Amino acid sequence: MIELNLFWGDLESGLDKQLFKLQSNNLDDGSLSFYDNKIECLLSSEKQWHGYQLKGDISFSFIEQCDRCLSEYEDKQKTTVNIMLTNNSDLIQKKNDDTLWFDKSEKLIDIGPIIRDQILTTEPIKKICNIDCKGICQYCGRNQNKESCNCNRKQNSDNRWENLKELV
Ligand SMILES: [Zn+2]
Ligand SMILES: [Zn+2]
Repeated sequence: MIELNLFWGDLESGLDKQLFKLQSNNLDDGSLSFYDNKIECLLSSEKQWHGYQLKGDISFSFIEQCDRCLSEYEDKQKTTVNIMLTNNSDLIQKKNDDTLWFDKSEKLIDIGPIIRDQILTTEPIKKICNIDCKGICQYCGRNQNKESCNCNRKQNSDNRWENLKELV
C-alpha cells in the first residue's frame, strides 16, 4: 500500500510546492506497469477555517506499447490532487469525494489512498510513442522508425510479377 504521510506541523506552517517521492511498486495493483519506480508529488497547502486545502501535481510514467509500432515506450503522466482536509463534520456529511476527515489526535494523515486513486484513474488517451511514429511496415514487419524499407514500391512490382506468373 502506498503511503504519504503529512504532519500537522507541516500543514500548519503550510507546504509550498514540497516534493514527496513515492515508490510505485508499493501500489498494490498488478494491472499497471510503471516505467520506473518513481511517483513524484509536488504539494502545497493552505490553512483555512475548516482545516487545510491541499493541492498538487503527481507525476509518474507508465510503460505502454505503441499502437503503431508495437514497441514499448515511457508514457509520462501528470495528474492533480485538490482535496480538503477537515475535521468539520458538516462538511464531511455532504459526502464530497474531495474531502478527507482528519483526527487531530493523530500526529499525521496518510493521503496515500488519494494519490493511489488519482493514479489508477489516469489512462493514456492515445497510445503512440511519438506523434511522428511511422509504425510497422505491413509487408515486411520492420519498425519504420528504426529502419526504412522500400516495400511499397517493391510490392507493386511483385504484384506485376505475380500476375505474369499466373499467365504462364
Ligand atoms: Zn510507435
Ligand atoms: Zn517493409
